[in-house]
Amino acid sequence: MKYYDKLIFELSKQGRTGYSLPQTCSKCKGTEAIPAGLLRSKAPELPQVSEVDVVRHYTNLSQMNFGVDTGFYPLGSCTMKYNPKINEEIAAMPAFGGDAIYKGIDSALAAITGMKHFTFKPCAGAHGELTGLMIIREYHMSRGDTKRTRIIVPDSAHGTNPASAAVCGLDVVVVKSNVNGLVDVEDLKPLLDDTIAGIMMTNPNTLGLFEKDIRQIADLVHAAGGLLYYDGANMNPLIGTVRPGDMGFDVMHLNLHKSFSTPHGGGGPGSGPVGVCDKLVPFLGVNVSGFNGNFGVILRAYAYILMLGRQNVKLCGKLATLGANYIKESLKDCYKLPIPTVCKHEFVFDGLINDGARDGKEGAATLDVAKRLLDFGFHAPTIYFPLLFHQAIMIEPTETESKETLDEFIDVMRKIAAEAAQDPDILHGAPHNTPISRPDETTAARNPILKYWDACAC
Ligand SMILES: *Cc1c(COP(=O)(O)O)cnc(C)c1O
Repeated sequence: MKYYDKLIFELSKQGRTGYSLPQTCSKCKGTEAIPAGLLRSKAPELPQVSEVDVVRHYTNLSQMNFGVDTGFYPLGSCTMKYNPKINEEIAAMPAFGGDAIYKGIDSALAAITGMKHFTFKPCAGAHGELTGLMIIREYHMSRGDTKRTRIIVPDSAHGTNPASAAVCGLDVVVVKSNVNGLVDVEDLKPLLDDTIAGIMMTNPNTLGLFEKDIRQIADLVHAAGGLLYYDGANMNPLIGTVRPGDMGFDVMHLNLHKSFSTPHGGGGPGSGPVGVCDKLVPFLGVNVSGFNGNFGVILRAYAYILMLGRQNVKLCGKLATLGANYIKESLKDCYKLPIPTVCKHEFVFDGLINDGARDGKEGAATLDVAKRLLDFGFHAPTIYFPLLFHQAIMIEPTETESKETLDEFIDVMRKIAAEAAQDPDILHGAPHNTPISRPDETTAARNPILKYWDACAC
């Protein structure tokens, strides 16, 4: 019997209980001590279930969640790394001197990024982007440079970048990637004029590739009077190795809930602190939130940094990079690798090399591979992003996984590729072992039925 197939009310059997309490107590004689006006006229309609029914029902429900604590979660661009439990213990402590924490994490992040100071108000990465762009706008305005209303964004950028720019009232200009997946400097040059507020970049970019022309790009943008914004949501591979400040970036955000180990997913809470270089410090006060951010998330991040310490923090980026390259090299004979260079913390495949298509039979697509992975107990990677490749599979193992886990994942990915080549229908029907197989991708997100009674025909 699957305890999650039914509501707790449906498990109810007349007269069954999960407790044994005395009918009356000697002092108050049952309900007599409760004033009549407060008594129910009718007994509440609670489910009548035994203790073991309740325990199994909710334990089974809790196990339907997939999280980093249950298994490997290689979701590209999202950095689903393990969150050490000491962070939780510290965040649960009853009291803290907030000032000292903000000062401490400000100087730790300044050391890690090469920025001067941070504001901790933004409550998400995208919120940080908006804050950073407002700082850029304020800076140009303060100089009477009012023409700068356009912002350059690479075609590989995370979707929040152009969205934040639009919310900030800036016009987005797209710069193309070259064949190696890096910003095309020749395409950038003609875009740079006195209407450009700046450029938003991610480095390593969303393909997991390091923008090695970054110094040249920084010089070109600065010479044209623009500023460089760094999307540091995926700072993981750089921590302790390279600093955005040293690459020439003027303003940036971090996702504490990704790179600095706060549990995330499902909409929050998050933290997207924004750091700036010297000359932008006067603009750090832009008003984006009435409060000083999500303190619990900031505290977890600070605990994480202090726990690792100056030496160990440097291992994050190296191990994240090693793990990603290990998986990439171990699978590139089964999955198409459009950009075959050394990657940073993540990389992108473009679907299967042999998808099993033959004699009019449809081959297995990236969606099918992702669904099949669920049968083997792995969370699927990010798929169909970035948009540069039609069958994108974006894998980010993070530094917290052992070689054994990576090997297991590689084995399963190879097994799935073999299945596809032999009989893609195995993949078309996947997942076969999960409580729900394939909900309609669109209506499940846009029109979710969250009430039990709507779900049945009555
Ligand atoms: C996750 C992510 C963001 C957005 O962060 P949110 O906290 O979800 O708003 C921005 N840029 C990149 C590259 C990301 O990976």
